[in-house]
Amino acid sequence: MKVTDKMAVIQEEIDEACRRSGRNPGEIEIIAVTKYVSVERAKEALSAGLKNLGENRDDGLLEKWDALGEGPIWHFIGSLQTRKVKNIINKVQYIHSLDRLSLAKEINKRADKPMKCFVQVNTSGEESKHGLDPEDVINFVEQLMDFPNISIVGLMTMAPFSEDRDEIRKCFAQLKDIQTAIKKLQLANAPCEELSMGMSNDFQIAIEEGATFIRIGTSLVGENS
Ligand SMILES: *Cc1c(COP(=O)(O)O)cnc(C)c1O
Repeated sequence: MKVTDKMAVIQEEIDEACRRSGRNPGEIEIIAVTKYVSVERAKEALSAGLKNLGENRDDGLLEKWDALGEGPIWHFIGSLQTRKVKNIINKVQYIHSLDRLSLAKEINKRADKPMKCFVQVNTSGEESKHGLDPEDVINFVEQLMDFPNISIVGLMTMAPFSEDRDEIRKCFAQLKDIQTAIKKLQLANAPCEELSMGMSNDFQIAIEEGATFIRIGTSLVGENS
């Protein structure tokens, strides 16, 4: 299916989720996650009007970046090894996976200007998921105040891959609660206005719970469906 056709379906679902929750669809940015697809398909996504592209590995990001350059808004959404920061840092506009001080230090050192970061939170408690434990997030964000090249624009989470919609919703609601607590602190470099949550399987729930960036791969740019 063409990206434009898939996009029409997704946009309809976004609009419906917004209607249900009294939100404005204009508040929701779609990140097309291109990690499984070709450069050609990523180009097709851009032609379809998508502006944000997401990659989860440094080599994937670099391959797409070399072909597409500075046109798209680039999001690094995967777990990031400290030694790989230098490869991607000044090519992306957002990093969604800040989850430890050593990584913050490296980003702070290598960035040419304040890097827009999401703190990744493990709301599901699954061992396999990256991110900080929810109770550690505030302390972590406070420690980042020493890093002038880090701007905490929001929080990111991944819900469990589950049939249990309530369990998914709980994760997203918890991220929103943590955001509210951080905003109250009014820290200069942690405006924390954004929530990066929701993927192909669960973006409607994420929108109902306050997502401002949804990260969609399979159902938006997937080549086999
Ligand atoms: C792959 C990935 C996505 C997109 O997943 P789909 O289920 O294909 O929509 C979103 N976020 C992260 C962090 C990912 O790694």
